[in-house]
Amino acid sequence: MEDRKQSPPHVLIFPFPIQGHVNSMLKLAELLVLAGLKVTFINSDHNHDRLVRFTDVVARFAKYPSFQFRTVPDGLPDDHPRAGDMVTEIFDGLIVKTKPALRDLLVVIRPPVDCIIGDGILGFVLDVGQELKIPVIQFRTISSCCFWVYYVIPDLIEAGVIPISGNEDMDRLVKVVPGMESFLRIRDLPSFCQTKNIEDSSLQNVAMATRKSSRAHALIFNTFEDLEGPILSHIRTECPKIYTIGPLHAQLKTRLPEDQKNKASSESSNSLWAVDRSCISWLDQQEKQSVIYVSFGSITVMTREQLIEIWYGLVNSKRRFLWIVRPDSVVGHGGEDIPQELIEGTKERGYLVDWAPQEEVLAHWAIGGFLTHSGWNSTLESLVAGVPMICWPYFADQQVNSRYVGEVWKLGLDMKDVCDRNVVERMVNDIMEEKREEFVKSAREMAKLAKESVSVGGSSYCNLDRLIEDIRLMSL
Ligand code: UDP
Repeated sequence: MEDRKQSPPHVLIFPFPIQGHVNSMLKLAELLVLAGLKVTFINSDHNHDRLVRFTDVVARFAKYPSFQFRTVPDGLPDDHPRAGDMVTEIFDGLIVKTKPALRDLLVVIRPPVDCIIGDGILGFVLDVGQELKIPVIQFRTISSCCFWVYYVIPDLIEAGVIPISGNEDMDRLVKVVPGMESFLRIRDLPSFCQTKNIEDSSLQNVAMATRKSSRAHALIFNTFEDLEGPILSHIRTECPKIYTIGPLHAQLKTRLPEDQKNKASSESSNSLWAVDRSCISWLDQQEKQSVIYVSFGSITVMTREQLIEIWYGLVNSKRRFLWIVRPDSVVGHGGEDIPQELIEGTKERGYLVDWAPQEEVLAHWAIGGFLTHSGWNSTLESLVAGVPMICWPYFADQQVNSRYVGEVWKLGLDMKDVCDRNVVERMVNDIMEEKREEFVKSAREMAKLAKESVSVGGSSYCNLDRLIEDIRLMSL
């Protein structure tokens, strides 16, 4: 018992195995290690292999003696694309293969695990923890506003909002989500809720996993009180113990030793892709705030017609642009061959790479705006950098996030489900010039609040200390 008290608490962190989840949960892992905790981070074999082959992430974490990676299968075939709306397939693989592997690992791992921090989208982690009598804290990588919509899915069904009928007026206000009555439209519901089939497995999975959160020891959100305070008050009525500790990438920067702070945004991207740094040299040659950064994250796929529409919009706006086009991001056929004017326009004004060091790009002085899919990490990264956004959401929480960006936080424009070259052109020009002043003003104010929250004495900073103390008490 004496020994036990002297050794640091052992935390096992288990993310849903996709980029956005791995990224933010690795940041939390690093923060806990910096605070003196022992951390085991679970990767899928597939993701671990990518980290080793394409990045320096595994080597970077090797400098922490109290950190280790362990791997489990994700249950998908090696050649599975793992992109697009494939949440159900990943869920199925995890239940069949990963759940038993996680359970077996927890039984044998030494020193024993004092606390599991499980991805809140994976309800089964809570079941495994309860069976083995290990406390589980859930980490939600999505916005808390989306969490809240997921939480009230039974009420949306009861009120007849879900299923969505074929002739639904998508601009109709939903009205039954507490705190969002005046602005949440049907088209702003998370993609999984916009279903015609109430038995839809994505809907059922997110609804069930989210309801389970009230059984967890506590809930962690990568957000901060000044951003989502009103919705967090609603969530606290159901799940009282909440730690808001974000934006995590900014919190990590605060807490890294002085000599590592400057490298934080270039080194801590935790990417599963090889980063092409040539775009930084290209940005160095551009004028201040003249470039629109275009990236739709790690999962979004688009048709070739959509690609061409966005491309025309960018070229026709006559602005400079840096565009991330992942090789696996364009699906299906259709659209014309790439017109020469797009190729010429890109040579003149644009720069394309497969994958960029995004945090560093957003913090670069040449960036003036961000055309984004509104993934939660990307939203927070843009917000901390004070960069106004144009939102083109793809799935999951992105529809809600983009509504908040456009309507509540006034940090940019919500293109939503439209993909039209004229709209892209107009919005790019609005954000870069016509309406720039108003967006930059609110973006700077929000960036200031974000940075204050992770500074010593700020709400997220203090909440992380409280979380660490909570975990330490579990190991006594
Ligand atoms: N990202 C990156 N380089 C890129 C594109 C994205 O490092 O070229 C990172 C980005 O900084 C973010 C993550 O990938 O941290 C994407 O997460 P997000 O939640 O925004 O979207 P998801 O990929 O989960 O849809």
